[in-house]
Amino acid sequence: MLIIPIWKRADVHKCDNTDEILIDNIANRFEEIVSLIQSHDKPLGRPSLGQYVSIHSLQAKLIPALLLTPGMEVALYHAGLCWGRAAGKVMIEKFDIKTVEDFVNRTKLVTQILGLQIPELRAVQKDKDGEIKSITVRLYECSDCYGLPKVNMPLCYFETGKWAGGMEILLQKQMEGIEKKCSGLGDEFCEIEIKEK
Ligand SMILES: [Zn+2]
Repeated sequence: MLIIPIWKRADVHKCDNTDEILIDNIANRFEEIVSLIQSHDKPLGRPSLGQYVSIHSLQAKLIPALLLTPGMEVALYHAGLCWGRAAGKVMIEKFDIKTVEDFVNRTKLVTQILGLQIPELRAVQKDKDGEIKSITVRLYECSDCYGLPKVNMPLCYFETGKWAGGMEILLQKQMEGIEKKCSGLGDEFCEIEIKEK
């Protein structure tokens, strides 16, 4: 497998061959996770400790990295975008998803089990021909930012990229995600707007 450090990938805005390799690998891993969740009969993660860790330990790594490293938000967003495209592909194929509503509801089942967040679809905007132009998703209890103090910037760049990537695969066009509400902005939940690019 070809490995390129993520910070060198941050300025890549569309999938090249390397992205495709990364996405395929993420998709295989995610498919394995979803199958394990569905089967309930195999242990997930490490032999003794399982797959779960405290959100405080995750936030303790993520937030200083984000606040102290210039460009980290771009890298996280792009990493999330690749992850979202991969996971979106798996979700859409595995559950035969056709609509935004179904996508959010199916994702909710997985993200709740993994302890990531509770998503809720807030709005779908369409043009006069019925084509989807923008989607608003709210994330409750987001593991990346829940409980953190206001720092006057949104924090969930990875999650924002992830949702944009999933919607790109579902809607078959380039989308861009912006986190408009977040603990980092002093809100009680995250809200992401995903618009056609
Ligand atoms: Zn957030």
